[in-house]
Amino acid sequence: MRTPVYARMAVIGCGLIGSSLVRAVREAGAAGEIVIAETSAAARERIEALGLADRVTADAADAVRDADLVVFAVPVMSMEAAARAAAPGLMPGATVTDVGSVKGHVADALAAACPDSVFVVPGHPIAGTEQSGPDAGFAELFQNRWTILTPLARDDGPYREAVARLALLWTAIGARVEEMDARHHDLVLAITSHLPHLIAYNIVGTAADLEGVAEAEVMKYSAGGFRDFTRIAASDPTMWRDVFLTNKDAVLEVLGRFTEDLQALSRAIRWGEGDKLFELFSRTREIRRGIVAMGQESAEPNFGRDRGKH
Ligand code: NAP
Repeated sequence: MRTPVYARMAVIGCGLIGSSLVRAVREAGAAGEIVIAETSAAARERIEALGLADRVTADAADAVRDADLVVFAVPVMSMEAAARAAAPGLMPGATVTDVGSVKGHVADALAAACPDSVFVVPGHPIAGTEQSGPDAGFAELFQNRWTILTPLARDDGPYREAVARLALLWTAIGARVEEMDARHHDLVLAITSHLPHLIAYNIVGTAADLEGVAEAEVMKYSAGGFRDFTRIAASDPTMWRDVFLTNKDAVLEVLGRFTEDLQALSRAIRWGEGDKLFELFSRTREIRRGIVAMGQESAEPNFGRDRGKH
């Protein structure tokens, strides 16, 4: 019998990420008891039917009572309201974390909403799919993926212990854990995740509006690169709206750089500068090989197609 890392885990919001977490924690025996709070009645019904938790409730304050770990797994802009709803029930000494894709905004929101008696340790698992809801989750989602913890600016012993214990939970479910400053996380993710999603949303939108090319043709011949963008562009609209609005500065910064580089590419095409194109395409191929070498992707064409998003 494994010793649980936490006696009682409360998860607020049980969609793709929340339900994957409870499945993984259950399987690993990493929490003694699991309680879920969900605002959506339809989702609560599904969670009950899937048997994901020991208890399911609509009341966040009730869910977090006596929990030594509380995880907020709601869209980024709903974090503060969810934390305010839960706050009256939070147990002193509990660890409060989240799985939000943007960390600066969420760290501020959680710190503002939670009492000083709890340990706020924001986090972000770099794993996901374009699906939503409790049916979409699966226990293996975090295996061999990174979870980034962005601790607040405090280094007292009890706080560090809370961070270490949370890291233990993530490793118990197969994730690799790294600590990072929240603002730096937001800049890194702006280029590795947020900008790629923006490009996907934009290219699919452009194709849909393109005069002279029928929508049926776009779908029929989508294998030529476009299909991979459509998968990313099928991601949850609420989640991604929130990401762009709350990571505005970092996204605009990398978008500026991207636009400059795109202009340079457009110039190279116009002036027939094949050597420039060849040099860039060779460098980018090396980056792909580096990702495969780091075990974050396989060289097989479709491996992990839907496990690497965040
Ligand atoms: P999701 O599947 O849409 O699930 C979110 C769930 O939270 C929904 O069931 C939603 O219910 C519920 N909810 C919303 N506000 C709530 C509240 N105040 N109290 C309780 N429940 C509430 O979304 P997800 O993909 O799991 O994303 C959750 C978080 O994980 C987001 O912050 C996202 O940035 C982050 N994340 C996502 C991915 C990914 O690839 N999807 C990866 C890493 C991290 P309703 O439907 O009724 O609103």
